[in-house]
Amino acid sequence: MPHYEYDLFIIGGGSGGIRAARISSNLGARVALAEESNLGGTCVNVGCVPKKLLFYASHFAEDFNNSNYYGWSFDNKKFNWNKLIKNKNIEIERLNNIYKKMLLDASVDIFSGHASLVDSNTIKIGDKLITSKNILISTGGYPFIPKITGNDHVFTSNEAFFLKSLPKKIIIVGGGYIAVEFASIFNELNVETHLIYRGSLFLRGFDKDLREQLKNEMIKKGINLKFNTEIEKISKKNNNLTIKLTSGESLNASHVMYATGRMPNSTNMNLDQVGVKLDKNNAIKVNKFYQTNLSSIYAIGDVCNRHNLTPVALAEGSILANNLFNKKNDTLNYNNIATCIFSQPNVATVGLSEEEAKKKYNDIKVFKSSFTPMKLTLTKSDEKNFIKLIIDKETDLVIGAHLVSDNAGEIIQGIAIAIKSGATKKIFDETIGIHPTIAEEFVSMR
Ligand code: NDP
Repeated sequence: MPHYEYDLFIIGGGSGGIRAARISSNLGARVALAEESNLGGTCVNVGCVPKKLLFYASHFAEDFNNSNYYGWSFDNKKFNWNKLIKNKNIEIERLNNIYKKMLLDASVDIFSGHASLVDSNTIKIGDKLITSKNILISTGGYPFIPKITGNDHVFTSNEAFFLKSLPKKIIIVGGGYIAVEFASIFNELNVETHLIYRGSLFLRGFDKDLREQLKNEMIKKGINLKFNTEIEKISKKNNNLTIKLTSGESLNASHVMYATGRMPNSTNMNLDQVGVKLDKNNAIKVNKFYQTNLSSIYAIGDVCNRHNLTPVALAEGSILANNLFNKKNDTLNYNNIATCIFSQPNVATVGLSEEEAKKKYNDIKVFKSSFTPMKLTLTKSDEKNFIKLIIDKETDLVIGAHLVSDNAGEIIQGIAIAIKSGATKKIFDETIGIHPTIAEEFVSMR
């Protein structure tokens, strides 16, 4: 038997890698982890966590205005972007340190630096060679910017979290999570915001009614949406950007942000030389146990480009660690993964869209409701909530639940448990609601 220094060497200290490291080490494995940047990966440093903090900051703007109708008044209301970014940075640094302590407490060796593969059991960091029985690649992804003239003038979500000042006017390109979330954040912070998407309606793949509802809400809040168009060229004069669209129109802005998807971080670790197979988008190919074509090398999370969500990477990390070091042989069930887009208002969903349900089931029943949330009844806000349930007529099973509302993610998380447990519409109907809440609508749809 060859002697290896470690049982598991993890390249990439994001959500999935850290979870796999901690569990493996607690199960008695000798574990090391290499990270070239800050611990915590995209989610902690330039993703979910700072985005949610910016989301909270931006939502105060609406809350302050609405509170006026509840008797509050504020003189001299002011927003300080630099203070927000400074406090956000302090919080992220705190989290980086917590992750470091968590790994050290679990006796995981941490290597700072860029790691690459020498062979299927050897890792190189600087001049140092390290051997391991198993290697896990959990290096995540990076924002993709299409090749267009002038794309050196644009930035991505990575930089958005560190802007020196709040933009005056921003154009956001893309129609996925990041584009929609940042459009909401900047708009609420009083930035003139334009969102440009190449298709006919953003959030492709989500339920059509949800997408329409969010489109209407975003327009009402003052976001300029331009669909069926792309940027052809960007030029810069002084500090002003001129953006030429394929529709022939030209726009000016101080900032252009691209949120046009993310690519797997897989091309700078010598994977091709070692023989690890990638797909056409450079995602690492793995089987259902996260094993690559080389039996000692595994990959989880965004570098596999499947369900690019933090909780999925966490679950994959847990399953892999238990399979390797706890004699388990588990796989993850990717059905009914709940998700939330932190737009204003939030959009959250679990299960099938109506379009998907129609393809999969012979006969479905759809319940929908649109209403003004109680919190806004005293105010002048015309924001509407929207709820939708999709039922398989034959079994009465709830196969899709969708919500546009404040805190939609908090509500859909509970609905996801019900759907995972196989709840029928009858069980929803028999459930007594909590009054007055938005969530009670889910058990009152007749
Ligand atoms: P998405 O993959 O969600 O969306 C990418 C968008 O960019 C799509 O609208 C796509 O259009 C468009 N696009 C792609 N290529 C081009 C191009 N060449 N020119 C113009 N438009 C283009 O990516 P995001 O960057 O928004 O987010 C990345 C991932 O991060 C998401 O998939 C999600 O899994 C995760 N994430 C999750 C969050 C959450 O859970 N709240 C928050 C943020 C990110 P089309 O639809 O036509 O393909």
